[in-house]
Amino acid sequence: MAAQITAAQMGADVQNRLVNDPSNPNNCACGWYVYYSSVCGHAYQEVPYRCGARTTPSGKSGFCKTPAPKHIVPAPQINAQCQYC
Ligand SMILES: [Zn+2]
Ligand SMILES: [Zn+2]
Repeated sequence: MAAQITAAQMGADVQNRLVNDPSNPNNCACGWYVYYSSVCGHAYQEVPYRCGARTTPSGKSGFCKTPAPKHIVPAPQINAQCQYC
């Protein structure tokens, strides 16, 4: 059975799931990380990660490339139903 975490742990957990993506300018880990529900099997939430190398004109950190690459997180999964169920 796949490891599970709560939705509240997702934001911290994404730090452990980062993948350097060759489609990013500096091979950085910017992108969306898609977590799945272990309850219903649907995509639960897409968590954005920005490496910090790029700042948008409004002063926030931005993705190095748009659209940012997506990565499926195979494990852990979220121990709750997705919002559509
Ligand atoms: Zn980046
Ligand atoms: Zn669902």
